[in-house]
Amino acid sequence: MKQAGQAVSGSVLTIDRSRDLEFMREALELAQQGASQGEVPVGAVLVRDGVVLGRGFNQPIGLHDPSAHAEMQAVREAACSVQNYRLPGSTLYVTLEPCSMCAGLLVHARIARVVYAASEPRAGMAVSQGRFFEQEFLNHRVHVEGGLLADESAQLLRSFFHARRKKRGKAQAGRLPDRPGSCEA
Ligand SMILES: [Zn+2]
Repeated sequence: MKQAGQAVSGSVLTIDRSRDLEFMREALELAQQGASQGEVPVGAVLVRDGVVLGRGFNQPIGLHDPSAHAEMQAVREAACSVQNYRLPGSTLYVTLEPCSMCAGLLVHARIARVVYAASEPRAGMAVSQGRFFEQEFLNHRVHVEGGLLADESAQLLRSFFHARRKKRGKAQAGRLPDRPGSCEA
């Protein structure tokens, strides 16, 4: 896993990391908020010049919106708050390595830097399943860093899935048919 502060890609830019931990902690709190609503716990905070412009957590289930990933929510709020569809000079803190959709979004939004916590081996597109941000055709470079508070984020995800499996196991048991061998619940 890439450590915080280790650049995966990106052009030369002056980076202020002094508040990275603070903002990632806030993203983790948002992830927790998602978990309490039954959503996979991923949180994101979008910051420019030390000011939080947007916050979001994963909520595709609650919003009936497959695009409602934490990054998407935070970027939408930020763009709306500054009344601009581009957010140059901003940093997105997200508790999980971005997927292909969100990786594309960060380029469209002209985000300067993305800092993620845990890596996502199955669908992460920063390093895990592909290095999207390094693609030659992109007309904008996002500086990528990973690993900040990765353990905290991974632990949050693990306990969420553990609790959900337990709950589903119980629900399944509750749906056993009255008559053995039938499929009528
Ligand atoms: Zn995503």
